[in-house]
Amino acid sequence: MIDRLRRIRAISFDGDMTLWDFEAVMRHSLGHALTELQAHLPASLLADLTIDRMIEIRDAVAEEPRGHSLSLEEIRLEAFDRTLQSIGVNDRDLAARLNAVYLKHRFEDIQLYADVLPAFTALRNRYMLGLVSNGNSYPEHCALDGQFAFVVFAHEVGVEKPDPAIFQAACREAGCAPDQLMHVGDSLRSDVEGANAVGALSVWLNRNRGPRTQSIVPDFEIDTLSELPGLLASCGLKSSMRDGQQGPWTAACGSPDRRTAGNGASSSLPNAPAKVPL
Ligand SMILES: [Mg+2]
Repeated sequence: MIDRLRRIRAISFDGDMTLWDFEAVMRHSLGHALTELQAHLPASLLADLTIDRMIEIRDAVAEEPRGHSLSLEEIRLEAFDRTLQSIGVNDRDLAARLNAVYLKHRFEDIQLYADVLPAFTALRNRYMLGLVSNGNSYPEHCALDGQFAFVVFAHEVGVEKPDPAIFQAACREAGCAPDQLMHVGDSLRSDVEGANAVGALSVWLNRNRGPRTQSIVPDFEIDTLSELPGLLASCGLKSSMRDGQQGPWTAACGSPDRRTAGNGASSSLPNAPAKVPL
């Protein structure tokens, strides 16, 4: 494992829930859209409209089969249109206005986790840093302008994580081989499984220290990005060993096949990539 760490030249990061709290900014931005709605419509129409209801409608729109794919922005606009229809209002212009309000706050009000910039500062002199995302938060829109040497979005590649093609695209952008790439993300399915499949080093960011419920085994598990510099310097001796639990680091270093080592993980995997709302 030390040899694998020594080969690393580039580190790619997932965005949502890895670098920023997407759930928080999404709810915050929907709150602004709801406030905008309250300025245009009588309160009686909005009595039952909540942020949770708006999220339900958006998720339903995203799940609908259609003959063509919609961008995340188009799905959100359609969701606002459908939200208005749910309260008996047909007003495409108002839906577009809500969408504009939402997107402004969705990007401009993103707050990075506190460990992001210190980790980047500690790593950038030795590694190329990149963003590999299924979402659409461009670095220049969310206080990360100039932080990345390479940026890869699923909607630009045409496939989403965990599809190997998006990690291969990241390697092309970074000018490195797959085994010279470390990928860091919060999703076992999208980030860890995808990185494992191309031979990149996978790091599962488990901020909430939750149980690993899938049979996907990361090379490393960390609960804060602050652990990354030390991990790269020392083969992660300080990471992943909590409460006597056998962590992924132990599994990866102790077994020639990391996928056969586990700590009680379920063998069932979801078929669909992790849902990325906007
Ligand atoms: Mg994520």
